[in-house]
Amino acid sequence: MSFDNAHKPSIELSIVVPMYNETDNLSQFFSRLETVLNRLKISYEIVCVNDGSTDNTLALLLEHNKHNPFIKIVELSRNFGKEIALTAGIEHTSGSAVIPIDADLQDQPELIGELLAKWREGYDMVYATRRIRRGETFIKRFTAKLFYRVIDAMSEIDIPKNTGDFRLMDRSVVNALSQLPERTRFMKGLFSWLGFKQTAIYYDRDPRQAGESKWNYWRLWNFAIDGITSFSALPLKLWSYVGIFLSFMSMLYAAFLFVRTLVMGIELPGYASMMVVILFLGGIQLITLGVIGEYLGRIYTEVKGRPLYLVRRLYGF
Ligand code: UDP
Ligand code: MG
Repeated sequence: MSFDNAHKPSIELSIVVPMYNETDNLSQFFSRLETVLNRLKISYEIVCVNDGSTDNTLALLLEHNKHNPFIKIVELSRNFGKEIALTAGIEHTSGSAVIPIDADLQDQPELIGELLAKWREGYDMVYATRRIRRGETFIKRFTAKLFYRVIDAMSEIDIPKNTGDFRLMDRSVVNALSQLPERTRFMKGLFSWLGFKQTAIYYDRDPRQAGESKWNYWRLWNFAIDGITSFSALPLKLWSYVGIFLSFMSMLYAAFLFVRTLVMGIELPGYASMMVVILFLGGIQLITLGVIGEYLGRIYTEVKGRPLYLVRRLYGF
């Protein structure tokens, strides 16, 4: 009764590539990746997720699939964003180890060997941490640093700094990941939350090979809010303390005014200070409502329970 063997995945390594309008990168990406994989001499599959590209990406992918049947394609019904595209890809893998990688060659395929070596040493998750961020502006690096600081201070999970989705996961980690049902998929946080035996390798991240990053500051800001609201309720709880503090201060002020009126009589002027207090408190109340709204909105998406993504077609599976 070799029950276990019958269910053993025959593919050793699954590469997952989310792609959104990556026409200009595809050929070079595949040639570098295939060179690396062939040199490693392992059985592999490359699961490409076409995340609703509006350019030639799908046609090119089908072309590549003709030459290399190990290239499989998950075509989503529209653009769902990188985090969800990644989840879709991961759910369609069958290898004993899974490595998500960007199509723009910012994550160097040449590092795959190093990731595999650590995995074979017995680690369940090996993440690639960037030493320096080449081709990124000072502001981008500064905001990234600030983000890690804030989320570190606010949540219980420990997110490794300067680490993206480029990492190796053992099948056991992938199975654990698929048990997390949330729709707001802040992958960095989810990966850390999982635990398991993790280790890092270090690399210098290259600038994007061609095309433009889909991240602008507005998207990054929303991404940061997703991360914080997914892993911390502090912004919700904070306001009761602000409220307690302000009420206490206002009672002191009321006592002061009471005494002053008794001693010095009623004094009418005070328009400026009234305006400041009203505007300040009005502002705080709106912020509080906004914070509640951020969480409520996310609860709303969770409660609706829609599927994370929809697949239009699968190719090569
Ligand atoms: N991507 C995606 N869906 C999107 C945006 C991006 O699948 O809506 C893919 C993109 O094709 C690339 C990877 O996610 O393979 C990283 O995207 P990008 O280079 O824009 O992000 P950055 O490297 O700046 O974080
Ligand atoms: Mg990129």
